[in-house]
Amino acid sequence: KNFAAAVANYSSLPQPQTTPDILYTGVFINNEWHKSKSGKIFETINPTTAEVIAEIQCADKEDIDIAVQAARNAFKLGSPWRRMDASERGRLLYRLADLMERDQVYLASLETLDNGKPYSMSYNVDLPTAIKNLRYFAGWADKNHGKTIPMDGDFFTYTRHEPVGVCGQIIPWNFPILMMAWKLGPALATGNTIVLKPAEQTSLTALYIAQLVKEAGFPEGVVNVVPGFGTAGAALANHCDVDKVAFTGSTDVGKLIQLASGNTNLKRVTLELGGKSPNIILSDTDLDYAVETAHFGLFFNMGQCCCAGSRTFVEDKIYDEFVERSAERAKKRTVGNPFDLNTEQGPQVNEEQMEKILGMIKTGKKQGAKLVAGGSRPEGLPGYFVQPTVFADVQDDMTIAREEIFGPVQQLIRFKKLDEVIERANNSEYGLAAAVFTKDLDKANYIVGGLRAGTVWVNTYNALAAQAPFGGYKMSGHGRENGEYALSNYTEVKSVIVKVAQKNS
Ligand code: NAD
Repeated sequence: KNFAAAVANYSSLPQPQTTPDILYTGVFINNEWHKSKSGKIFETINPTTAEVIAEIQCADKEDIDIAVQAARNAFKLGSPWRRMDASERGRLLYRLADLMERDQVYLASLETLDNGKPYSMSYNVDLPTAIKNLRYFAGWADKNHGKTIPMDGDFFTYTRHEPVGVCGQIIPWNFPILMMAWKLGPALATGNTIVLKPAEQTSLTALYIAQLVKEAGFPEGVVNVVPGFGTAGAALANHCDVDKVAFTGSTDVGKLIQLASGNTNLKRVTLELGGKSPNIILSDTDLDYAVETAHFGLFFNMGQCCCAGSRTFVEDKIYDEFVERSAERAKKRTVGNPFDLNTEQGPQVNEEQMEKILGMIKTGKKQGAKLVAGGSRPEGLPGYFVQPTVFADVQDDMTIAREEIFGPVQQLIRFKKLDEVIERANNSEYGLAAAVFTKDLDKANYIVGGLRAGTVWVNTYNALAAQAPFGGYKMSGHGRENGEYALSNYTEVKSVIVKVAQKNS
């Protein structure tokens, strides 16, 4: 089942809580709630109405220092966490997943309130995917074992897979719960401790999940959740007592985090950054299916996906028809209140993102792309909405074909030959994801082999799972989240070389 199927299946959903209680707005350290040291707070805004939802404690460097110390203490040799059986760590992760499932309606509602994504999506996609992710990594907790390696002479080696230590985890606002799960699962399964900073636009669900971490029974200091702005993230990235930072967000901040590592303690860094993913549609494909899936590949989550198919390359022979049908489909997209179960598209996450997207649309028009759907804000909606927008006749050198838009704006680009489209698809500083639509297996394999991207979908888009690694080539980052590969991000390998005593000696 891919995300498209999950989104479509909303008829039997339990009703959302349109005004979920806001229970936690503090700094979560050592399994307790605190005020920020500075006494500062910040507002979190409902993007559907532009109204304030709640005030959140605004943590910064001082709070980060305390949280890192808590995580360091929890990581000390002999601590409850370090002494815990690996299978018990797995059991706690399962328990956390169970608690999220128990509170699925509430958490999905809170996510929709704070982020603006349709409840049908937060309930049917974000929550189940996050829960599955935690269960997947719970299963790994007692299976991340090393090797025994024969050596020349009277020695043998075995490897121990040990936790890296204190991990700083900085996450974005586009999938707040899911990104938290992607970070917590592998780090906790492998025995690390965590200071997690949610995005300032969407802290509420991370704070509620922090309380579930406590309820699940994790020892104090193992997971600390510190809400705040980029300065709090920078304090984590620059902290000499943090052993690793895992970051998801913009490429610009990713660069800063890598620099911070180099300037301090060479902490391990994994980065999951931006993208400008090519989606290649060959003329032999099922046109209805390709139009719908390309639409979903771009407009899913209001276009706020790092792997969005934001350069749709369509073969010359079917280009005009593809444009016409894509424009029709975009015009039919239901935009509005994200708590309404029929809504496909809610608001962008905040005013800044909406303005950035509207600016990109303006640039697209100015540079000569042909606007065939949308292009402005829908009328009568108070929040940060942008119409589903489609551009045709997009050229590779236009800004909208080069830069991440992170919004509901589809670029349809014409191509003629396979080698040409592979080269053009790769002509980007990013390399996160890509897709190809064709019935010809040989062509599909040829294109798959040529594309420089961490994920390539064949005849589908946005199919993601806990088991399948995800991450970028080039400036889309490094390291892989999900799957067995993710464990290595959170593991140090220790070689233990043992002298074997000879018999009779
Ligand atoms: P961002 O990279 O600024 O924010 C992501 C996270 O990093 C947030 O938690 C933020 O507080 C933190 N952060 C900000 N500055 C930091 C610093 N100097 N050091 C450490 N942490 C810091 O992203 P944004 O401003 O929210 O969005 C800007 C653009 O980033 C978007 O338009 C989009 O193109 C891209 N983006 C990508 C993803 C993704 O999944 N790859 C997610 C969100 C945004």
